[in-house]
Amino acid sequence: MTAEAGAPPASRRAFLAGTGAAAAGVAAAGLLGGPLTGTARAAGPVCPPGNFAPIPGSALGPPVNADGYFAGQIKGDLYWVTDSFYTAMFLTTRHGVVLVDAPPTIGHNLLRAIGAVTQANGRPSQVTHLVYSHSHADHIGASILFGPDVVRIGHSECRTLLLRDNDPNRPPPDVTFDDHFTLTVGGETLLLDFHGPNHTPDNIFIRAPAQQTLMVVDVIFPGWVPFKQLAVSQDIPDWIQAQDVAMSLPWDTLVAGHLGRLGTRDDAELQIAYVADLQASAQATMASLYPAPFFEQFGNNAWAIFKAYLDAASAQTAAPVTAKYLGNLAAADVFTVDNAFALLEFALRVDGGVLGPFGIHP
Ligand SMILES: [Zn+2]
Repeated sequence: MTAEAGAPPASRRAFLAGTGAAAAGVAAAGLLGGPLTGTARAAGPVCPPGNFAPIPGSALGPPVNADGYFAGQIKGDLYWVTDSFYTAMFLTTRHGVVLVDAPPTIGHNLLRAIGAVTQANGRPSQVTHLVYSHSHADHIGASILFGPDVVRIGHSECRTLLLRDNDPNRPPPDVTFDDHFTLTVGGETLLLDFHGPNHTPDNIFIRAPAQQTLMVVDVIFPGWVPFKQLAVSQDIPDWIQAQDVAMSLPWDTLVAGHLGRLGTRDDAELQIAYVADLQASAQATMASLYPAPFFEQFGNNAWAIFKAYLDAASAQTAAPVTAKYLGNLAAADVFTVDNAFALLEFALRVDGGVLGPFGIHP
């Protein structure tokens, strides 16, 4: 690391150069959802953490270039861009570019990628429309780079949340919808649909029908287990259901918002199987793990009893699932205990009403 501890690197490119991640095109670990600061990533050149299993090669995307990004064609006028942690997509049209999401970690590389692609295909490079998948800063925090004149489009709840957040980097969408919006620009079309809350109350499904592509963010993680606690989703039963909503739509290619490669229907099916296995294991755990020892151990400390019980239940739920998926889904050993907790606490206990030993009426 070239930056002094506590001093943020001057730019993401400088940061990546310091870690060696840009040249290697590999995950530098731990950047999801966090700001890029020297204090957050004070470690030296990337060395894989020794206590986690290696990442299967199939989970990784193409190497990024010297600027720290990769841009590729999906089909026709639809392209995607990644820094190997986040993904966005854009449609080049006769009248300008429609961009979906503006992750701050890709930042100015969005403009570099769009400039390079439109120079090659002869279409105008101006970004005229910016679609927000949802309000979270880690996916749209570079919105401000596209100036005051870009037409921002999102769910009506996205506008409500962004008015609340009052973040200058994320201007609220000017064009909003509740259920469905067809966006046609310069002969190209995106279909925007809301199927209820899942990861957030405003997360939408974005389809490019001519290119058989779906973009839905923070729901499916191609090649990897879901991020901590099932993508820190606000509604776990609806997040689980959102996986099935995705499968009910016609598409061949998935832009998932995270990590460094595109997804397939097989990727989505594998994650659905992982979550179903977690659910079955959670149910078995609820039926077999009794909290009596924790009452004995912690006496009148109710929170300590619950913490010990939930920690033990999460570990017991995760163990067979981690063993089954390690080698097939990257980082199964990193987040499966956290994912088991989300499954247990929400899908089963408080939303599902499956309370195990805590559901027996006195
Ligand atoms: Zn999010």
